[in-house]
Amino acid sequence: MTTIAVALISGGLDSLLAARIVQSQGFEVVGLHVRLPVYPHTARAFRGAAALGIPMAARTIRDDYFQLLRAPTHGFGRGANPCLDCRAYMLRMAKELMEEIGAAFVISGEVLGQRSFSQRRRDLLIVAHMAGLQDRVLRPLSAKRLPPTVMERQGLVDRSKLYDLAGRSRRPLRALARMYELRFVPEAAGGCVLTEKLFAPRVLDLVDHELSAGVWDLRLLTVGRHFRINQEAKLVLGRNAGENDALRRLFELSPRKEQVLCVVPHNFRGPEGLFVGIVSDDALMRGLALLRRYITKDLPDRLQFQVFRQHPPFRRLVTTTKELTALPEILAL
Ligand code: SF4
Repeated sequence: MTTIAVALISGGLDSLLAARIVQSQGFEVVGLHVRLPVYPHTARAFRGAAALGIPMAARTIRDDYFQLLRAPTHGFGRGANPCLDCRAYMLRMAKELMEEIGAAFVISGEVLGQRSFSQRRRDLLIVAHMAGLQDRVLRPLSAKRLPPTVMERQGLVDRSKLYDLAGRSRRPLRALARMYELRFVPEAAGGCVLTEKLFAPRVLDLVDHELSAGVWDLRLLTVGRHFRINQEAKLVLGRNAGENDALRRLFELSPRKEQVLCVVPHNFRGPEGLFVGIVSDDALMRGLALLRRYITKDLPDRLQFQVFRQHPPFRRLVTTTKELTALPEILAL
């Protein structure tokens, strides 16, 4: 019977190569893509898996992921990225799948030293341990620089056919991609927004103000302009038609329907928005004034805004003069 291994497939070249290397030793490889709103590369992951000819599962992080942002055991990198905790979280999801399908181990495409915050030797060992996988995580690209896993010690995996890569260069990865004749070689793409310093204030604001934040809130962080109106409420404004649509979808999916208001310009064209939190009349008017700031032409003398809430159902047409101006103390996130 063929031994099965679960490969974490992020959509990057490293993870595809790691899966391919193990596949070439005769294992049946099943891919797992962990969907994170802050790392939108699911399509690439599926394309890569299809090119390898491996079946793929995709699982979305759960609301408990937010705990990693609230109190990361191993801290943040340069942004609000809890990489060690996050890797351990993904490995735990891979472990769940491993146990469900009777796989023997998990494959990860991490390369030693590729990232200074989370891929030092000690980090790789820690995250496997945190996930409860101990030495059942095989990192084929750097395996020869790491202690042999139980699969290597028992001869299940041929260590001599694994690699000793280290560092940030993509050149050896491209060489391996040619050697293994990968049919899909993804270009280096934008990574996870949690690593961006400018994104961190949004995350920290959410941590500070929303006790029950979860996946929905993380999704919302990736859309539009964010403003803290007061301690109870924030406003998110779409920057284009695509973001307005995304905000409407998020409005419908909101897990706290009584605390999310959708605002749509009624008699003029402009950004749509979501208020999140406990929105007083004062906060509402301040948010509308802010929205007004992003419209520079074709304004009628009196502005009308539709304001909706899903539960309890609420719909209101708010009319203001066009001189509405945003109050200066509103904080842009
Ligand atoms: S870069 Fe983002 S997705 Fe990757 S491990 Fe760090 S927090 Fe997680």
